[in-house]
Amino acid sequence: GLASTRTYPLNSSFRPSYNMAVNMVDQVGREKARELLEQSFAQFQADRAVVGMARQIHKADDALEGYRESASCHLGDFMEYAALRRELSDVEASGSRKRRAADRAEVVESLVGLKVGDVINVPAGRWAGLAVVLDPGTAEAEAPRPMVLTANRHARRLALVDFPTPVEPLLRMRVPKTFSSRNPQARRDLASALRDRAEGIAWRRDTAYRPGNGGSVDADPRIAEIRAKIKAHPCHQCPDRESHARWAERYLKLERDTQTQRSRIEQRTNTVARQLDRVNEVLDELGYLDGDTVTPDGRRLQRIYSELDLLVSECLRRGVWKGLAPADLAAVLSGMTFETRNADDAPAPRFPNRRTLEVSETMSTLCADLQLLEREHRVKFLRKPDFGFAQAAHDWVLGSSLDDALHLTELAAGDFVRSMKQLIDLVAQVAQATDDDALRSTARKALDGLRRGVIEY
Ligand SMILES: [Zn+2]
Repeated sequence: GLASTRTYPLNSSFRPSYNMAVNMVDQVGREKARELLEQSFAQFQADRAVVGMARQIHKADDALEGYRESASCHLGDFMEYAALRRELSDVEASGSRKRRAADRAEVVESLVGLKVGDVINVPAGRWAGLAVVLDPGTAEAEAPRPMVLTANRHARRLALVDFPTPVEPLLRMRVPKTFSSRNPQARRDLASALRDRAEGIAWRRDTAYRPGNGGSVDADPRIAEIRAKIKAHPCHQCPDRESHARWAERYLKLERDTQTQRSRIEQRTNTVARQLDRVNEVLDELGYLDGDTVTPDGRRLQRIYSELDLLVSECLRRGVWKGLAPADLAAVLSGMTFETRNADDAPAPRFPNRRTLEVSETMSTLCADLQLLEREHRVKFLRKPDFGFAQAAHDWVLGSSLDDALHLTELAAGDFVRSMKQLIDLVAQVAQATDDDALRSTARKALDGLRRGVIEY
C-alpha cells in the first residue's frame, strides 16, 4: 500500500509535499494516490476523534427518528411548519443582533464627542446621574472610557456598560486646569460647582431609550412574509400545536448539530486529499507531471528530499549552479538547509565572493516566483533561502578550523555539526539527482571537503 516504499508520517498537520506527491503519482497514479491518502488519514484519525464523532452521529440518528414521530400532526407536515417557525426566529434574532450593534455604535459615537467640562447624565450603573467629564478617555476609539466627577464627589472612569444609551451634554462648565481628582478639596469644590450649575435643569429627566430610534436598521421584510406562511399552514390550527412544536424544536436542533459533526468528519478526511490535488496542480504547471506520467524533470524531483525540494529541483533544471567551485556550491546550497535563529536580529549574511552573492540572488528571486505560484494554488511549503551559513560552509570546504567556524557562525558546536550534516545530505542529493556531469563532480568534491574533522561520517 501507501507505506510500501516509504513511510509517510501521518499526523494532524500532515501535508503531502512536492517530492512525496510526485513519488505517489509515480507509484499508483493520482486517483489511487488520492484514495490511499484519504483512507490512511481517515484510519489514522479513526483512532482518535472520528470514532467518537461517528458514534455520536449514530445515536443522534436514533433520537431524531423518535423526535420526528412525537412531532407528527394529523393536520399536515408539522416539520415543515416547525421549519418556518425556526426561520422566523432566526431572521428576528439576526435583526436584533444588527440593532444591538447599531445601538452600540450610536453610544460610542456620543462618547467620542464628549469634551472636558461637559455635564452629562450617566444613564445607568453605580454612578448613574449627573456628572462632569474630566477626561473623555477616547484613546481607544472603539470603546471610550470617560473619566467623570459625579455630583456626589466621586471621580470614576466609566465604561461602555454604564452607557446602555447614548449621552448628550446637558451643558458645559469650566474644569480648572490644575484640577486633580486625587485632591478631596478640589473634588468637593468642583462637585459643588456642578450642582450649582445644574440647578434648575431637569437633570434626572427621563432618558428612556427607544430602540430603532432614527430608523438606522429597518425590520427585515422577510419577517412579514414568513409570518403569513406560518398562519396559512394547516398545522397552525392544531390544538396540540405547541406540544408538537417542542418535539420539532428538539429535532431541528439535534439535526443541525449532527450536520455540523458530519461535515467536520468529512472535512478532516478530505483536506489531505485536497492538498494533494493542489500540490499536483503546481507540479502540472511546472511540467513535473503529465497526467499520471512523471516527466524527466519529475524524475529528478523524486530524488530530492529537502524541505525546499521544489526550489532545489528548479535550480537544477535551470542550471543555476553551473560552473561553481566546490566551496561555492556548498555555500549556496547551505541557503536551503540552514535557518538562522532569531532571523530578525541576525546581521546580513556574508558571502565568500561576488559569484556566490549573485547566485544567491538568483535563487531568492526564483523562490519568490515559486511562492507566487504556490499562492495561486493555495499551498505553502517554500520558505525563502537563508544564507546565514554560506561563508562558514565555504570556508569549511577549504579547510577552516572548527574554532574559526564557530566564531564566524556564533553557533554552539552541536548546532554547527547538525547544520553541516543537513548541508551534506543536500549536497549528496544534488550529486545524485543532477544530469550535469560537471555539477555532479563538483558536488562530490564539495562532499569530500565537507566531511572532515568533527563532521566525519
Ligand atoms: Zn396536530
